[in-house]
Amino acid sequence: MMSCEVKEKERAGIINPIFTCQPCGAQYASIGIKDCIAIVHGGQGCVMFVRLLFAQHFKDNFDIASSSVHEDGAVFGAVHRVEEAVDVLLMRYPDVKVIPIITTCSTEVIGDDVDGVVRKLNAGLLKEKYAGREVHLISVHTPSFKGSQVTGYDVALDAFVRTLAKKDQPNGKINLFTGWVNPGDVTALKHLLAEMDIAATVLFEIESFDSPLMPNGDAVSHGSTPVEDIIGTANAMGTIALNRYEGGAAAEYLESEFNVPAVIGPTPIGIRNTDTFLQNLKKMTGKEIPLSLVRERGIAIDALTDLVHMFFADKKVAIYGHPDLVIGLAEFCLDLEMKPVLLLLGDDNSTYKKDARLKAFEEKVDFEMEVITNADLWELESRIKNKEIELDLILGHSKGRFISIDYNIPMVRVGFPTYDRAGLYRHPVVGYAGATWLAETMANTIFEDMEHKKNKEWLLNVW
Ligand code: SF4
Repeated sequence: MMSCEVKEKERAGIINPIFTCQPCGAQYASIGIKDCIAIVHGGQGCVMFVRLLFAQHFKDNFDIASSSVHEDGAVFGAVHRVEEAVDVLLMRYPDVKVIPIITTCSTEVIGDDVDGVVRKLNAGLLKEKYAGREVHLISVHTPSFKGSQVTGYDVALDAFVRTLAKKDQPNGKINLFTGWVNPGDVTALKHLLAEMDIAATVLFEIESFDSPLMPNGDAVSHGSTPVEDIIGTANAMGTIALNRYEGGAAAEYLESEFNVPAVIGPTPIGIRNTDTFLQNLKKMTGKEIPLSLVRERGIAIDALTDLVHMFFADKKVAIYGHPDLVIGLAEFCLDLEMKPVLLLLGDDNSTYKKDARLKAFEEKVDFEMEVITNADLWELESRIKNKEIELDLILGHSKGRFISIDYNIPMVRVGFPTYDRAGLYRHPVVGYAGATWLAETMANTIFEDMEHKKNKEWLLNVW
C-alpha cells in the first residue's frame, strides 16, 4: 500500500495517554489573560495536576483556583462553592477582573448550573459587594468525558469571545489567534507582524510566561492580554486563527456574529505554511511583504538546503500531539523529503476525517502513512516493539521520552509538555525562525544518534 489512511485506533481503552482532559486546555487559555484567575469547578486534582504540568513545562508557577468540591457537593450539588470562591478571589486579589469558571467531569455530571450562578452573581454579589469594580465572569463548559485538552482550549477561547466581544468602532487591527503555542512562537509571530507593519490583537500574549525572577522575589507568571483586547475582537478587520482546532470556533463566531472575516490556518510551520500566512496577512490588510522577510525566508531556505538531501531524505518519522501541530510538522517533514509514516492524534474528534490537510496527505504521499485518531503512546510503542515500523526520529512531547530511551530512537521534543529539556518554550516552531530551529534541531539530534551508534558518523567530517 502506498497511501495515507486516517483511522481510529482499533484497541479499546487508552494506555499512556497523549492528552489530558478539557479543563487543562481551558486553564491554558485562561492564564493568558491579564488580571485573570480561573476557578476550576471540581475536585482539587483538576487544578493541581494541570498546574504541575504548567510548572514542569515553564519551570514557573501560575495562579489558578479551585472550588474544591467534596463529597457533600458531589451528592447535593456544589454551586454555592463557586459563589464562595468568586467572593474569596475578589477579596484576596484586588486586581482580578476576569474569572473564568471552568467546569469538570464531576460538576457537569452533577448538573451544576454554572450559567445560572454567573447570572446570580452578576445580579447580586457583584452589584452589592463589588459595585464599581470591573469584574467579568465567564462560564466555560469543559466536561472531561468529551474532547481533550485541545478542545478545552477551543471551547474556552470561544466562551471568552462570546461573553466579552462587543461591537464598537473599527479598531484597524487584525485578530491573531495563535492556538496553544509557546512564548517563543508568540515572539516569532509578533516579529512577522511588526515587519509587515500590522497592528494586531494577539490572543494570547504569553511571552510573559517566560517570566523574570525579580529582586523583590516576585516569581509568579501570568499572561498579559488585557480584557479590553478580547472585548475589541468584534471590531477587527479580520481574524486569522492559525490552528483549526485551537481557536477556529471563536474565529467562526466573530465572523457570523460581527462580520469579522475569518481565515483559519494554516499552522505556519515550515516555509510553505509561513508563506501562506504572510499572503493571508497581505490580503487581509493590504500591507506588502517587506524585503526583510524575503531575506529571512532566504536564510531559512539556505539552512534547510544544507540538510535535506544529505541527512533528511527518506528518514522515517513518527509524530504525536496536538492535531494542528502534528499536521504542520508532517507537512514540513514532507517538504524536507522525510517520511512521516505515523501520525498519532490523541483524541477522537470526528472532524479529523474531513480535515483538508489530512485529505491532501491521502492524495499526495507515495509511501505508507498512517494517521491514528484516539491514539495513545502504547500505539507508538507497540508498533516499534512488534517491528511493524522502523523509525529514524520521533517528534512529540516529553511524555513519550521512555519510548525514545527504551528503543534507542532519537527524539525531538516539541509540543506540550516538554519538561525534560531546558528552555524549549523559548524556541519557536512557527515562522521562518521556527522552520530553521526545527530543522537544525532535528539534524543535530540525528547527528548525535549517528555518533552514538557509529552509523556513518564519518559523514560529519566531510559535510
Ligand atoms: S478527568 Fe475529570 S476529575 Fe480528572 S482532572 Fe479531568 S476534569 Fe478533573
